[in-house]
Amino acid sequence: MLTKREFLKLFTAAGLAIGLPSIVRAQTAATLSLGNAKLHVINDGFMQLPMGFVYGSAPQAERDALLIQNGLALDAVSPPCNVTVLETDEGLIVFDVGGGTNFLSSLGGFFDAFIEAGFDPERVTDVVFTHAHPDHLWGIIDDFDEVIFPEAKMHIARSEFDFWMDKNTISKMNPERQSFAVGAKNRLGELADRFSFFEFGDEILGGIEAVDTSGHTIGHTSFVVHGGDQPTMILGDALTHPIISFEKPNWPTGSDHDMDQGIATRLKLLDRLSHDQMRVIGYHLTNNGVGRVEQSGTAFRFVGS
Ligand SMILES: [Zn+2]
Repeated sequence: MLTKREFLKLFTAAGLAIGLPSIVRAQTAATLSLGNAKLHVINDGFMQLPMGFVYGSAPQAERDALLIQNGLALDAVSPPCNVTVLETDEGLIVFDVGGGTNFLSSLGGFFDAFIEAGFDPERVTDVVFTHAHPDHLWGIIDDFDEVIFPEAKMHIARSEFDFWMDKNTISKMNPERQSFAVGAKNRLGELADRFSFFEFGDEILGGIEAVDTSGHTIGHTSFVVHGGDQPTMILGDALTHPIISFEKPNWPTGSDHDMDQGIATRLKLLDRLSHDQMRVIGYHLTNNGVGRVEQSGTAFRFVGS
């Protein structure tokens, strides 16, 4: 049976042999320069989450007023999913990989877009995970049951890996989230040999710093990519909503594993990001996730750039 890679090679070769008109290459959603390197953002699709699940504990009148003021729906949150690819002379490093085709039908576009943009999966040296939720992890295995990046080493916080691999985690989850735990354990277990584990604060790869942004999950990590004059923080799910996470960081977020820790992490992070004026890429933020944090009175604002 053909592997997906062989299939793609064959498909591409056949296209060239019969002289098909050259297809317009998919654009990456955003490309940023970082010294001699480049950061590409590639969209995986979007999710739709009930408002009551995400912000059910927020004061409703105030929540609705804020959403209306910003022209947003009241009943659901529909975040995009933004995968980041760091391109250097040495190869490609990918941060999270999208949800693949087995989680939600509105996700799973990342890998095709990656190929269409002209990137070679075999050039990916490392895959770095912010955490092991399905929209970030499940895409690592394709429909052929193969790892999409055959040569890549994988990296995740030790505490995140241990949490999902613990035999008691599945039974302790709410029933509606047990499939998250089963899916994480299966994939992390299957790929265990490829993983290296880091602690918060480590430099995990040259110029890439692991920042403790736990709360959303036990070992949730954001990453500062240093180099050039615009260090950039890849946030993962530390700040997920382009309005509420910034203007009301102290509202509990139902998608956080530890809601109090999630609040403490947001407050600390917003303080640092606004002070440093550091560029960010948020996995679920608008403007392809790219922007900065500004302080605005006692609150903060996400400013796309
Ligand atoms: Zn997410």
